Amino acid sequence: MNTTTKIIAATALAFSLAQAAPIDDIGALSVKGTQVVGANGEPAQLRGMSFFWNIAEEARDYWNANVVNWLAEDWHANLVRAAMAVEDNWGEGQKGYAYNQSGNQAMVEKVVDAAIAKGIYVIIDWHSHWTNDRSAKENGKDRWQLAQEFFTAMATKYGQYPNVIYEIYNEPGTDDWSQIKPYAEYIIPIIRAIDPDNLILVGTPKHSGDLTPVVSSPLSSNYSSNVAYVFHFYASEEWHLTNYLPAAKSAMNTLPLFISECGLTPASGNGTINYSMVNTFWDWLDQTKLSWAAWSIVNKDETSAALQKSASASGNWSENDLRESGKWFRNKLREQNPEWTPITGEGPKPSSSSSKQGGSSGSKGKDSSDKSSAITEFHNATGFHFTGNTISVNLKGMSRVDLLDLQGRIISTLWNGNASGNTVLSVQAKPGLYLVRIQGAGFHETHKVTVK
Ligand code: MG
Repeated sequence: MNTTTKIIAATALAFSLAQAAPIDDIGALSVKGTQVVGANGEPAQLRGMSFFWNIAEEARDYWNANVVNWLAEDWHANLVRAAMAVEDNWGEGQKGYAYNQSGNQAMVEKVVDAAIAKGIYVIIDWHSHWTNDRSAKENGKDRWQLAQEFFTAMATKYGQYPNVIYEIYNEPGTDDWSQIKPYAEYIIPIIRAIDPDNLILVGTPKHSGDLTPVVSSPLSSNYSSNVAYVFHFYASEEWHLTNYLPAAKSAMNTLPLFISECGLTPASGNGTINYSMVNTFWDWLDQTKLSWAAWSIVNKDETSAALQKSASASGNWSENDLRESGKWFRNKLREQNPEWTPITGEGPKPSSSSSKQGGSSGSKGKDSSDKSSAITEFHNATGFHFTGNTISVNLKGMSRVDLLDLQGRIISTLWNGNASGNTVLSVQAKPGLYLVRIQGAGFHETHKVTVK
């Protein structure tokens, strides 16, 4: 039900994706050997921020499109992680998915929709420590069944978007991989039956710290297509440096890894930051090109929290709104991730002037298109309009319209010749995300569209 469209480079004469949003630059993720790669086969190193537990008072207000947009635009994050509580019941208004499925799922969708509209990657994180243990019920419900319901909904809604990464189990509390593996073998085929290709992250023993048991018994080829294993570290924790890091280094010889959570602090999330240890970890990340998401977007009084209490729930944070971890990660991300041209969000009939203003309206538009399943429209200088797999556009004189994949390869040429005004073109392609490039005398523009 989504039509996203944007201008990548209205003025450039030569078509180039250099300024494209991360999703257009890197494209669909897959696993090649031991490396997560982008659509061009090159290592894809994503870097960004994890949200804190969605049910926490100090965190939940940040779960919105304005914060996603701010993290993308100001921090240059190309990855966010939606850490959804599952088994937790912290009191009224603070209950995880087992106690409030629709409420928690809606919070996740808000973040995912915003990330898609913004053109960045998003991890849908089953933020649990206990799901492997099926003997324990949660609010009377079977834990695996809960995970099945959630990931079925997510894969159905988002499987077509290359932005989306499924993390099926954040940090297993058990040391025993043989207790985690059956859960992975249960959930992965459920996702794959709906979404054959998006990246899946599998949590590992000892709170995703110890890769050694996985090395000797990885998932078989029936389960491991586009699957990476999770490694979490907290850089100021001595044990993580001296034990988990060497094990991860050695595991990398055979396993693809993904750092879906990491921090500067000790493992508790609080305590003194040791920057010499931090540098050791980040030097390693730079060498290995592993992707990472940092813990976390929350204004709690602890050193891993990125934000001060003063940080607004709509972004626009000043340096004073950031805690030590927040300042460090913002600097790191701005230093390492390229800036890209802000994209327009989705939205029903935005005026042409608002079409130039970044993505802050993204989620609003998405919400309304969801409700009505109606047409999402977009207008700009050429009156470009895409709905029902049909383009209408004002072309004058010699013009050319091409349909491209997200790597910029021409799938088909929809128009090439003289035109005089409104031109209607039918798009025939497999469902998915594409770019429509329009070239004519004195203009050149590109829109992202979803073919259904
Ligand atoms: Mg897919």
